Amino acid sequence: MFASSESLYPLAKVSRNDFAKLCEALWEWWPCADWTAERACQHSNKDPECHYQDAERLTPFFDFYRDATAYYVPELTKGSAQAIKTHDDLVRIIRYIKCHSNSPRLLLMTEYFASCRRAEYQDLLSSDQNRAFSLAARVMTMLQCSVEDQSDGLLEAGTLPAIWHSNKSFNQFIASVIERHNTIRLEPYGIAVPRPLQPAFSLDSISAKRLRNVAKLKIIPTNDLRGHLTLDKKNGTVEVYHYASVLKEHLKASRARELRADSGLPDQRYSHLPKQLILETLHTLKFALFPIDSESQSILRSLVAKDKFDPENCRVNASWQLREEELTAYEYWGSRVMDLYDELENPTPRGFVEKWMERKSGARYIMMATLAGVLIAILLGILTLAVSIIQTWIAWQQWQHPVS
Ligand SMILES: [Zn+2]
Repeated sequence: MFASSESLYPLAKVSRNDFAKLCEALWEWWPCADWTAERACQHSNKDPECHYQDAERLTPFFDFYRDATAYYVPELTKGSAQAIKTHDDLVRIIRYIKCHSNSPRLLLMTEYFASCRRAEYQDLLSSDQNRAFSLAARVMTMLQCSVEDQSDGLLEAGTLPAIWHSNKSFNQFIASVIERHNTIRLEPYGIAVPRPLQPAFSLDSISAKRLRNVAKLKIIPTNDLRGHLTLDKKNGTVEVYHYASVLKEHLKASRARELRADSGLPDQRYSHLPKQLILETLHTLKFALFPIDSESQSILRSLVAKDKFDPENCRVNASWQLREEELTAYEYWGSRVMDLYDELENPTPRGFVEKWMERKSGARYIMMATLAGVLIAILLGILTLAVSIIQTWIAWQQWQHPVS
């Protein structure tokens, strides 16, 4: 007997109601009922309870969620149960991880499935439990996530997923998943000062415009935060994590958490993504890749139209402004920004014509120009010498055989 497609792909269908529950689990707000019912909002623009626009803005994230869950296949053997049957099951796991974000993963999983007290969970495969928790972590962080020894569909993406080790808590996992190097200090007016000491440069010198025009690189969107600003010299691409709407939700939640702590309320243990990481990623999008000049903005608009970039990148939104004092360095993305800067200073030649024509940058270009100048000078010298030898010879002949 064949399994029905619903049990093969239990999460293939997702409704707005599921998205609403997801928002509530992740960011503690509930979209306006009109949004869930897919009709125009009846509230006034300034109603703080209405989250119609917030939900609308998250459309790219909901598309990501739809894709990430649609192809989720439970790991089953004959007669075994499955850890996730509905979107509600997945949301329940997300809530559980948030409430116990300091417990090691293995303990967390064991306690979660024990707490469900469902008869069928007794013969659940541990690999299916792993897979369910990986999927939950991926939705929460937008990081390709896996647990040890998991041969998962996630590996098919080509990049190695981030490993959530069994003895590490969720908070430890997200704190260490992207390495911090602290390589660039930020100064006012978008000036970047690399460490160890190298000449300072303006952040917009790695703008999408220059990446495209000078380094001939193609920008490709990624939904894995770890891939942000990854330069692939061989294929001539730069990956960009563009989900600004999601980062802004995390940032709002993170600031609300700080306010709670400042006013003496009990601290929430769950910390979303590290605030420094959120701020840096937003900063690279807004000030480095897509500064306010018209050509950069036009590249951005075309990425939104053709490559499904998050339209939130184009919006000027007063409610979440980056505060200068909040971000003083690139600790996560510093080394990748430097890679891009170095590539722009000394671009890899791309294509036959470019190899000859497009080396406009710095030392190499000057050296080539100088070399060409010297060669031309030598050639002219030889020609002049030849001409004067001929002239001397003609004069000699005329002197020897004067015409009478
Ligand atoms: Zn509303």
